[in-house]
Amino acid sequence: PDVPDLEALQYADVTALLPVPGSESDKYRRGVVGIVAGSARYPGAAVLAVGGALRGGAGAVRYVGPGAGAVIARHPETLVHTGPPSKAGRVQAWVVGPGLGDGTDAVSAVADVLDAEVPVLVDADGLRLLDAAVVRSRTAPTVLTPHAGEAAALLGVPREAVEGERLAAVRELAARYRSTVLLKGSTTLVADGTGRAPVRVNPTGTSWLATAGSGDVLSGLTGSLLAAGLDPRDAASAGAYLHGLAARHASDGGPVSAQDVADAVPAAWRDVR
Ligand code: AMP
Ligand code: MG
Repeated sequence: PDVPDLEALQYADVTALLPVPGSESDKYRRGVVGIVAGSARYPGAAVLAVGGALRGGAGAVRYVGPGAGAVIARHPETLVHTGPPSKAGRVQAWVVGPGLGDGTDAVSAVADVLDAEVPVLVDADGLRLLDAAVVRSRTAPTVLTPHAGEAAALLGVPREAVEGERLAAVRELAARYRSTVLLKGSTTLVADGTGRAPVRVNPTGTSWLATAGSGDVLSGLTGSLLAAGLDPRDAASAGAYLHGLAARHASDGGPVSAQDVADAVPAAWRDVR
């Protein structure tokens, strides 16, 4: 009741949050992010999510799924695994869902990841496949990153109901799923699962981000910040901030591809440092 409804994330807040390696750092201490994404139908989503994660400041990115060939062709530094995510080796935060489809492997991969006792970010197809009761009972943090249509499906309401009441919708989702929720769109809102903190509004977005695959880049980038140890509300809001700034860098007033946005994350990062 005493907290303001909304707060804009400031440049200085993000500067203070970004993990910068020191002499004591090694790749494991910097964080390993696991990405479960892609399918025969959507192989590119895996490439984009891994691309976002590689620029997000984690020490290593592990990819689990059927798209290892495409991922390695574009990002040879990725560690790849086929088989259940729980057998992939050490991971400090998971991202599950971009381009996953809804086959049986996708269903079991989502359940397997939600069983892990580390932070999990669920996006895209993962949002359709999650078990709400499992999400609510997780002890490690969960971050959900829906756009308005995905948020509407999670709430069981029409899309227009979310678009007309975005602040109420993001809060309701966070409370119902006991999760941090990043609601995407022309403005991005971040609500935390406790309901005690103000909802954060990201000021850096640009409408050039309304392009296929840009959400996949955001999920990888945010997952990387989770793996580096940021708390879920900070990871989600700093992820959105860097994502918007990266798009502005890549765009310079013109169109961008999602791949361009991933490639521009380091430039956005340098702005904020
Ligand atoms: P997705 O819907 O998963 O592809 O994600 C799209 C990304 O683009 C999210 O980060 C959105 O917040 C962002 N986005 C979509 N439309 C707009 C818009 N009109 N203005 C600013 N950002 C947008
Ligand atoms: Mg998406």
